Amino acid sequence: MRNFSKAKRIVIKIGTNILTRDNGVDTAYVRRIAQHTSELLKNGKQVVIVSSGAIGMGCGKLDPASKVKDIKMRQAYAAIGQPLLMAEWRKSFLRYGVTVAQVLVTAEVLNNRKTYLNLRNSVETLLKLSVVPVLNENDSVSTDEIGSAFGDNDTLSALVASKIDADVLIMLSDIDALYDKDPRKFSDAKPISAVYEITDEIIRSAGGRGSGLGTGGMKTKIEAARIAANAGCRMVLANGRLKNVLARIMAGDEIGTVFMPKRKLSNRSRWILNNAAAGVINIDEGAMRAVKNRKSLLPSGVVSIKGTFEAGAVVMLNDDAKAVTNLSSSQLKNLAGKHSSEIRKVLGPKHRDVVAIPEDIVIIDY
Ligand code: GLU
Repeated sequence: MRNFSKAKRIVIKIGTNILTRDNGVDTAYVRRIAQHTSELLKNGKQVVIVSSGAIGMGCGKLDPASKVKDIKMRQAYAAIGQPLLMAEWRKSFLRYGVTVAQVLVTAEVLNNRKTYLNLRNSVETLLKLSVVPVLNENDSVSTDEIGSAFGDNDTLSALVASKIDADVLIMLSDIDALYDKDPRKFSDAKPISAVYEITDEIIRSAGGRGSGLGTGGMKTKIEAARIAANAGCRMVLANGRLKNVLARIMAGDEIGTVFMPKRKLSNRSRWILNNAAAGVINIDEGAMRAVKNRKSLLPSGVVSIKGTFEAGAVVMLNDDAKAVTNLSSSQLKNLAGKHSSEIRKVLGPKHRDVVAIPEDIVIIDY
């Protein structure tokens, strides 16, 4: 369970709260992480760092007293802080002869199949060159990334771990572990050492968002664990301030919480599952049973459509599955409930006569 000796590819996510101190970056901390990461590289591991802290650093530089609630200011602070953050990583890794590279991503990049493959290729190439890619969200260009659902590096790090087939995702924050109850409210809350299944109870006990300059909380960490779990990737959540935390985790010490993977989906399935759905196709029970048995989705099983989407978009099938649809929402509205042969009658003989093929359907099974 905690044996990471065979783990080759590691993603380390470091939160704002532990990277910044007194309105600036905690240089000593960055240096320590660089030192321990270089040790991992020497042992033949490949490491990707997902580093928060750009907004925090930009804010610390210009206006330490501000609370950075305003989106425009957060964008500006991110633009100011990102090069400062990279300069720290670069300087620290240079001491150990390691080159770092900056990769900025957005939710859009991760959702789009083509740019997502581009991202994977560039990260793969950097890893082959023994360079440490340092990733962050491109907060200055994507308002969605700051302050809304996707806007946290927890989710981002899990998506990246999933995309590059990482073996372990190490999530370093100021949270010690997952607890059976909210430790801020209950003094008898106990840490959970290993999670095999992310149940509704775990989600309920996770509570809300964190506070301060970072945007994540326990909820986003659980979501990250889910994404990692579908990629066959273990996730360790631990307090980044613990002494030798990286080395201890890799040595199998029982610190924090390890989330064990449930299944390893194919890369395409993961892309479908992790993609934001453009709409919903409501299907009847029989159709749901069929797709769960790895059959195609036929138009006869379609009851109604929600949202506007193109053919090729990722959509929800009720609340239970995600799929790439062969038909747009307007085409589906015409063909819902009809026999498969109607598809070709309406759209021509070359068109696929199903709404979605089994390879394009992924059941959400957490
Ligand atoms: N990308 C943001 C930053 O660098 C932080 C997002 C997060 O806290 O997860 O400041």
